[in-house]
Amino acid sequence: MINFFFKTYGCQANVADSEGLASFLKTLECNDVLTEQEADLIIVNTCAVREKAEQKLYSYLGQLCDIKKTKPFLKIGVIGCVASYKRDEMYKRFDQINFVYGAKEDYKVLESYLGDLVVKLETTKQLFGDTGTVFPSINVQDRDIKLVVKQGPSFFRAARVGSMAIFKKQPVGKGIETKNKELNRSFINIMTGCNKFCAYCIVPFTRGREVSYPMQEIVDRVAHDVANGSKEVTLIGQNVNSYKDGETGLMFPELLRRVAALEGKFWVRWVSPHPQDMTVELFDVIAQHRDRIPPYVHFPLQAGSDRVLELMKRNYTIAQFEEQIGWLRERMPDAIISTDMIVGFPGEQEEDFELTMAAIERIRFDWVYSFNYSPRKHTLASRTMSDDVPQEVKSRRLERLQTRQIQIGAEVYLKHVGRIYEVLVEKRLEGGKLLARTDGNVRVIVDGNDGLIDSFAKVRILSAGPVNLTGEFIQSEKISNASL
Ligand code: SF4
Repeated sequence: MINFFFKTYGCQANVADSEGLASFLKTLECNDVLTEQEADLIIVNTCAVREKAEQKLYSYLGQLCDIKKTKPFLKIGVIGCVASYKRDEMYKRFDQINFVYGAKEDYKVLESYLGDLVVKLETTKQLFGDTGTVFPSINVQDRDIKLVVKQGPSFFRAARVGSMAIFKKQPVGKGIETKNKELNRSFINIMTGCNKFCAYCIVPFTRGREVSYPMQEIVDRVAHDVANGSKEVTLIGQNVNSYKDGETGLMFPELLRRVAALEGKFWVRWVSPHPQDMTVELFDVIAQHRDRIPPYVHFPLQAGSDRVLELMKRNYTIAQFEEQIGWLRERMPDAIISTDMIVGFPGEQEEDFELTMAAIERIRFDWVYSFNYSPRKHTLASRTMSDDVPQEVKSRRLERLQTRQIQIGAEVYLKHVGRIYEVLVEKRLEGGKLLARTDGNVRVIVDGNDGLIDSFAKVRILSAGPVNLTGEFIQSEKISNASL
């Protein structure tokens, strides 16, 4: 029995990739374990968006290599965005790493490789248990994944519908799996890559150009996951709303419509969109199916100055962005809206930053994910622009933005107090309370029993802080799917 552990950095596309591979490994009777020390196979899914994440990755890989000293049959793999362009460096730096596989490569090939790896690993682990020795002839460094798969024989073939793997969910509690009860949710990649080439972003280089998966396969996968208990399905793409079915030309709003028409009680979320592809039709579909598609939209603005937006190659102006926010609020006045902001982009002057501050005052986002700009290799900004905003200026601007947004968020959150919301109960927090989320994706902290986890329930909101609401259940029994 092989135990595996995933360490996932970065965005929800990475979470979905890790979950897909984890489900695949479970079909091979492997166990998902909670710590690196218990694992025979560790896969690190990496993020290249920020330099800091990359530095953290290298220190983590160093720790894993230490574990391997006491467990020589341990296999370590690195996948995702950093793996796309730092393969050689990682192999050179970490002798102990078994495979590095980039985000824009075909994960079906990786699955075939993992199928073989698991079989070999079982033998190596067993022999190590029996003899205390790792035989080099079995414990080979199969670093060239494509070659290994090409040479075969592959010990495993995934059961597939079209080109998307359909994974069987394993019953909770199987083997040594000891995870606490949590919300049953699924993350489904509906497309990958990006054609937009924003000046600061490394994604088009690490994940390649846009590829959308067939619409019917996605709809089938959602139906499959909901039938297997998923209460929340998140459709994921680097540019999710530029989705286009290759065969029919049908676009993202139609995909949402079809998913929303499926049987069962579940919520559909979607990340990450680009403002350029936000359409009236999209907001109409959400408004028409709001029991199924929650009124929560992540709407990444990045900067409030047209001059900086132009430098960033974002393809919209602040006026166009606000017009779109207007379309959304006209249809769903209570929509929850979050955004991303980058502070200190090359060339950002004090007056540009003031325009960003003015934008958050006018739009009043529910929350803002904000970051200091840091250059990423390959991008237009790193090749052609000087990182000319001093670090202390970036930090001062970022602090000012975050401080003001905390105040705005607290003011905006006050509107929730006294309201009753349907929530999905996610898990028990370390402090003993339950964490639930409204359809608008707002966190609610609430007292309750474990039986409520992974179910829909209703809460009355008692108080609001800048990050969480607190609430109380207004009916103790679960709301069954049939009653909703
Ligand atoms: S739209 Fe821009 S920020 Fe988003 S993934 Fe594409 S290049 Fe990156």
